[in-house]
Amino acid sequence: LMRLYGPLTSLSNVHVDVMTALVSFDRVFEVLDLEPMVAEKPGARPVPPGPVTIEFDDVRFRYPAAEEVSLASLESVARQDTGPSHPVLKGVTFTAGPGRLIALVGPSGAGKTTITSLVSRLYDVDEGAVRLNGLDVRDATLSSIRDTVGVVMQDAHLYHDTIGANLRYARPAATDEEIWDALRAAQIADLVEALPEQLETVVGDRGYRLSGGEKQRLALARLLLKAPSVVVLDEATAHLDSESEAAVQQALKTALAGRTSLVIAHRLSTIREADEILVVQDGKVAERGRHEDLLARGGLYAELYRTQFAHQ
Ligand code: ADP
Ligand code: MG
Repeated sequence: LMRLYGPLTSLSNVHVDVMTALVSFDRVFEVLDLEPMVAEKPGARPVPPGPVTIEFDDVRFRYPAAEEVSLASLESVARQDTGPSHPVLKGVTFTAGPGRLIALVGPSGAGKTTITSLVSRLYDVDEGAVRLNGLDVRDATLSSIRDTVGVVMQDAHLYHDTIGANLRYARPAATDEEIWDALRAAQIADLVEALPEQLETVVGDRGYRLSGGEKQRLALARLLLKAPSVVVLDEATAHLDSESEAAVQQALKTALAGRTSLVIAHRLSTIREADEILVVQDGKVAERGRHEDLLARGGLYAELYRTQFAHQ
């Protein structure tokens, strides 16, 4: 899955025409599989175990332009409709110590999602380095990165499969009891218990329809089952009704407790609890500090607070 993740993301760079020009999607995957966006170095080492420190050291990054994606069969088509890509991160530096919660806030397009994607090495940086416990992620085994970092993004992805199977993707050997524990901690056990087929209920596009908040809580349950040292999270409040809001809030608290967390924060409560808030603007950290201090500065954070968070 990790191997497909990068290439699939990179496909969004390629114009839709390229996709429709291809004979079959199977062929795309076949080709992509040969050329992952990131590759494991010979002699790669596992991320040092234990509580994790995330380090961004003057990270500069631009998305690879489609013509740099070396897919022989796509290349000639892709070249026609892509311009050079612009710098997205222009020197991002921060440290998230073991068990600390770092909140990313900032205007849309500032680079927050990009920062989170570099933690699990979906792409390689152009300059600078991303380190986990001192190890450059480019020198780490891909499987150890996957085991260390748990990600829940805005549109929590569930497979068209049973609830039990969706959770076992995180830990194949999990017992039903462990699964129920995770569901309870994520505040979604009551809902699953009320379903006629409980853990055997098929969810996903053609299965039982879950609301956005329910999906997010299942994704959090999966995360709790995986129990990673690092949690990367895009909070997203957009599709939550007020009734599930409190439940999700509680689930988030449990999911983040004791782990090194990098959260694209939309909730005032998360922002207030953050050990450090990074205000991202135009690919840089424009301001950093805690809530009260940043408010008092009367800068970009104070403005974001007025327009986005104050009404919560
Ligand atoms: P944020 O999460 O703060 O809204 P993003 O990290 O998503 O910002 O985006 C930062 C910049 O990178 C934007 O200009 C966006 O258009 C660009 N970008 C994001 N994802 C991709 C991608 N897969 N390919 C090319 N450009 C991208
Ligand atoms: Mg984003």
